[in-house]
Amino acid sequence: MKYITLKSIQSDLYAGNITCRNLVEFYLQNISEKNDKLNAFLSVYEDESLLRADEIDLKIKNKSAGKLAGMVLGIKDLLCYKDHVSQAGSKILEGFESQFNATAVQRVLDEDAIIIGRQNCDEFGMGSTNENSAFGPCLNEIGENRVSGGSSGGSAVAVQAEMCFASLGTDTGGSVRMPAGFCGLVGLKPTYSRVSRWGLIAYASSFDCIGPITKTVEDAALLLEIIAGKDDQDSTVSNLPVDKYSDFSSENKVYKIAYLKDAIESEGLQLEVQSETVAKIINLKLQGHKIEAVEFPLIKAFLPTYYILTTAEASSNLNRFDGVKFGHRSLEATDLMSLYKKTRFEGFGKETKKRIMLGTFVLSANYYDAYYTKAQKVRRLIKEYTDKLLETYDFIVCPTTPTTAYKLGEKTGDPIQMYLGDLFTVQANVVGLPAISIPNGVDKDGLPIGFQIMAGAFKEKELLDFAKSIEI
Ligand code: GLN
Repeated sequence: MKYITLKSIQSDLYAGNITCRNLVEFYLQNISEKNDKLNAFLSVYEDESLLRADEIDLKIKNKSAGKLAGMVLGIKDLLCYKDHVSQAGSKILEGFESQFNATAVQRVLDEDAIIIGRQNCDEFGMGSTNENSAFGPCLNEIGENRVSGGSSGGSAVAVQAEMCFASLGTDTGGSVRMPAGFCGLVGLKPTYSRVSRWGLIAYASSFDCIGPITKTVEDAALLLEIIAGKDDQDSTVSNLPVDKYSDFSSENKVYKIAYLKDAIESEGLQLEVQSETVAKIINLKLQGHKIEAVEFPLIKAFLPTYYILTTAEASSNLNRFDGVKFGHRSLEATDLMSLYKKTRFEGFGKETKKRIMLGTFVLSANYYDAYYTKAQKVRRLIKEYTDKLLETYDFIVCPTTPTTAYKLGEKTGDPIQMYLGDLFTVQANVVGLPAISIPNGVDKDGLPIGFQIMAGAFKEKELLDFAKSIEI
């Protein structure tokens, strides 16, 4: 029952060798065996997914099934799914049920995907290890007590451990690519505005993107093709037509590729990550691609820019959670002000509170220009520099993360070390460009290493074609 691609599932479904019910039963069985330990799913829609499987089996018989028939999918706890609980990995949204579907969720449902459950994540997507979830960390299936990566940790581990076939996660600074890298999977962050954010619980609105986590580039392409495109519910979505990403070009194109010299030579880089990345680069050369080292003078500004702007946006976005409108409401309140204060004090976790305070600080009248305005300017500079590089090169490559999956608790006491793990992924979000992480070998403990490829705006077709051509 271990399938790598949806195509192979569908060929068995249409040949009558298996049914969607068999598939759902298989994943439910794995969930019941593994979830207590791994903590990837927060809710499992057992009866519902079996009923839906029967519905889709019937459609398959009648030859009226959609493109995702047979895809058993999990969704990150930041996505709204009508009449289902969505809590953003937080206590503050206790008991909150979505009244509508996120556009991406609606689109996969329209193509007959089966949603099997809601997946664990860092609170509001704030984290790199899933240790900031109010529901406890999600564990990597590989290695003893290793983190899943974050913030879409549950979404990655669920696919890694065969608890579902694919997942929809969200990526604000690497949250799809990083856990995909830590778990040996493919994680795709599209161009900002390629996919509607309607129904995505906001963390940092000018960075947030929904993206798939899959076993193959092929299925990431198919999912993107389905969730991308114009949406009347989100005015920031691009109207550009969506390419047929899943129609891969068979042409063996020769690309011009840049790799960030600093990224390969960076001090904190684990030796095996370095050697596997260098091996990949040599391999690309052997395949005929033109690949060159480039300097990126602003690399030191990636993380400060990202963390100043995202915390600023978060402090504003998270204002809405006040005990009046959604979820948790403190029972200790004596008046309106204490209702706000106590609800937020009780409802938010430590990291979220820290980021709200940091964001409020950088937006405060006295510091606005010194931090927020300055970070916006630096964001522009990083964007201009990156865009310029991508006029010369088709892609920029580097490792997805400086190291493989950490031990549980290894970085929680040191926020700088924790944030440094995002060094290579945040650039794509700061500049709004598409990037993918594909598996690139393992370290001596068998922990997966990710290889990241970034492309120009709306160049997902080229990005996916290239990623597929070098996927192992
Ligand atoms: N690790 C980053 C952060 O904590 C990225 C999170 C994300 O992409 N949602 O902000």
